[in-house]
Amino acid sequence: MDNCLFCKIIEGELPSEKVFDSYNVIAFKDVVPQAPTHILVVPKKHIPNMTSLSELDRETVAEMFNAVKVLVGENDIEESGFRVVINQGSDGGQTVDHLHMHILGGREMEWPPG
Ligand code: 5GP
Ligand code: ZN
Repeated sequence: MDNCLFCKIIEGELPSEKVFDSYNVIAFKDVVPQAPTHILVVPKKHIPNMTSLSELDRETVAEMFNAVKVLVGENDIEESGFRVVINQGSDGGQTVDHLHMHILGGREMEWPPG
């Protein structure tokens, strides 16, 4: 979609450090990491947020969860633990309107979240 930062990264118009690529999903390192491991898992299709997913996106959702599984293994945080976050809307702290999961790990997380 025009003017979407993550669509531009997916199209290769903007650089990123890609760490995973499957049919419907890519993942790349967050440019402002909030933990030693901070990866964004992103559908290649422009889906603005979690509640705009439809039944037709079920393969994509499954691939996003599979990407998490692969990446926590590759980054050696499966045993120590990690957090997966999806921010939505202004109260949720979403700043890029293209669905993404944050994988955060490599340090102890706090609860409740800020
Ligand atoms: P949100 O706040 O929408 O949940 O997450 C957006 C994330 O995208 C933020 O963690 C931010 O650091 C990251 N981000 C913003 N611009 C870029 C960029 O150009 N490249 C990469 N790799 N990450 C970005
Ligand atoms: Zn997009």
